[in-house]
Amino acid sequence: MSDFSARLTFANGKAIEFVGPADITKETTEAIVNAANSSLLGGGGVDGAIHRAGGPSILEECKRIVAKVGKLPPGKAVLTTGGRLAAKYVVHTVGPIYSGGKRRESETLASCYRESLRIADDHGIRSLSFPSISTGAYLYPIADAAEVAVKVVANELPRTTDVHLVRFILFGVSDRDTYVAAAERLSQHPNPNSVIFEKAP
Ligand code: ADP
Repeated sequence: MSDFSARLTFANGKAIEFVGPADITKETTEAIVNAANSSLLGGGGVDGAIHRAGGPSILEECKRIVAKVGKLPPGKAVLTTGGRLAAKYVVHTVGPIYSGGKRRESETLASCYRESLRIADDHGIRSLSFPSISTGAYLYPIADAAEVAVKVVANELPRTTDVHLVRFILFGVSDRDTYVAAAERLSQHPNPNSVIFEKAP
């Protein structure tokens, strides 16, 4: 079923879809990404929704990871199974807390997307859904966050071995429109991966 609002397709057939308003816990991609916090103990927003829908086994795995390697720094990602979710895996990443748009913040946000894609690819995952990382409780302005997110995924996806489909699952209409606008702008720039932008009718 094609439920996307817009799509970027690359020369090699890989694609980024923009979906919304939608709930990422319902996604049937092989993995979904959680905008977690460093403790990995769950929280509000999308984090709480994923743990509620996926059940306690995800939290147990998160606790084991923290016991072994400590808290997860912003920009990094780890993988657990998906518990009761339709998605088989959850990639947990920690976005930057916005404090005025320092360069380091956009680099950390870009790293979240890059590291999540890398860990998914390392596990042979073919499809992955992202929420809008850092734009809720972490207060990153959505237009700036969308630009970073779309740019980094469009740069990295052509290079992955196994990941073929990335979906951005946007919770609200205006968030979705902001991401779609960022995708359209990106497609208008010369791009070595000859990307095609389509909007659903
Ligand atoms: P952060 O702490 O990284 O800002 P939040 O969970 O507070 O994370 O918000 C990130 C984004 O996730 C926000 O845009 C919020 O609207 C969105 N969001 C919240 N719940 C869901 C959900 N179930 N599915 C998809 N997106 C969600």
